[in-house]
Amino acid sequence: MKYYSTRDKSHSTPFSLKDAAFAGLAPDGGLFVPESIPQIDMTEVERLADISYADMAIYLAQTVFDDIPAEDMDRLVRDAYDFPIELNSIAEGLYNLELFHGPTYAFKDFGARFMGRMLGYLGDGEQITILAATSGDTGSAVAHGFYGVENVRVVILYPDGKVSPLQEAQMTTLGGNIHPLKVAGNFDDCQRLVKTMFKDKDLRSKVRITSANSINLLRWLPQSFYYFYAYCQWKKKTGKDSPVVVVPSGNYGNLAAGMFAKRMGLPVKSFVAASNANDVVPEYLVTGEYRPRPSVRTVANAMDVGDPSNFERMLWLCDDSYESMTSEIKGFSCTDAQILDAIREIYDSYGYVSDPHSAVGYLATRHYSADGFWLSTAHAAKFCEVIQQAIGRTPELPSGLADAVERERVFTEISSKDSDLVDFLL
Ligand SMILES: *Cc1c(COP(=O)(O)O)cnc(C)c1O
Repeated sequence: MKYYSTRDKSHSTPFSLKDAAFAGLAPDGGLFVPESIPQIDMTEVERLADISYADMAIYLAQTVFDDIPAEDMDRLVRDAYDFPIELNSIAEGLYNLELFHGPTYAFKDFGARFMGRMLGYLGDGEQITILAATSGDTGSAVAHGFYGVENVRVVILYPDGKVSPLQEAQMTTLGGNIHPLKVAGNFDDCQRLVKTMFKDKDLRSKVRITSANSINLLRWLPQSFYYFYAYCQWKKKTGKDSPVVVVPSGNYGNLAAGMFAKRMGLPVKSFVAASNANDVVPEYLVTGEYRPRPSVRTVANAMDVGDPSNFERMLWLCDDSYESMTSEIKGFSCTDAQILDAIREIYDSYGYVSDPHSAVGYLATRHYSADGFWLSTAHAAKFCEVIQQAIGRTPELPSGLADAVERERVFTEISSKDSDLVDFLL
């Protein structure tokens, strides 16, 4: 399979999987997509989903990444997906796919762990350094995604005093190949330092650095797999076909992966793009106009994106047709007050504690009386303050988070000067 930039309409510049994966973003500023969409056999998917998530994901990964030897893919996927995933029912007719039982208690584990193993594999014995700046959540997903992967060193820059204690614990208690750097500065300083390193030709001739950007196709494509699993579980529980799938969205990688799954042959009826007050995509679906703007801060802050990168992949999947997109996706947006009310309602009515992002999925499901399921993207315990505000108590920390909080934090402190980081990397 070859890969192209979304902007390379005439397919003039093909990339191999390895080159596309190590580049992250295409040189023309577009996002990588495969040259064609592989077709899968739903009977086989349903048979394998009955065995385990990993077994089903192996079949899908082998079909999508067809130039990797099947037995290698088997090993990589089994290693990546060694945690549970569950289609939960909070009440009659209300189903949510819990994607937060991985090591960082958020759905980004599905993309990050697959990418970690694949980059290690594609690197073919060469030492690589993953360099990333984080304001909190990306850092922990990347750290855990690459933890223990051979020949990969992960260097994560985070701003001193600007990440939550829980987030810091998740990044700084792993050790091994994970190197957290606490920067005397803010998130912008961290980002600037990373960008400067990527532009430093001398450094790059000595150290092979790459990013673990969220738009990387190795993070994006495996997110299509869990839609298949959810479908199989939902069909078994309800006897129905063709669910409406509600996706709490920010940068729209998750929803674009669902659209990809549909094109591979998954019988989805339609999608709902569920957003918080950052409603650029729902607005586009109504008006046909895409108006990117600065994000606003909300209680579902992992979805605070004002110009979602993956919108370009959504357009590509719809052949740039507004009509095609609106026939497949409905938009929904809500305020912080509505999110807090929803968390309270879910707790009072069903005794279930929902994180704020998943609560947006619940609201959109209710709004459209959607017959299907919504994706639950994070564990409520990661957003204690919001939960406390909504229901007057904090959720219990799951064992993995509680352990991380207890463990000793190990990090290196650096200034915001370029030379400090260069020295560290060398
Ligand atoms: C990243 C994230 C989202 C948004 O996912 P996108 O793929 O960026 O749309 C939603 N919820 C949580 C908890 C997240 O971490």
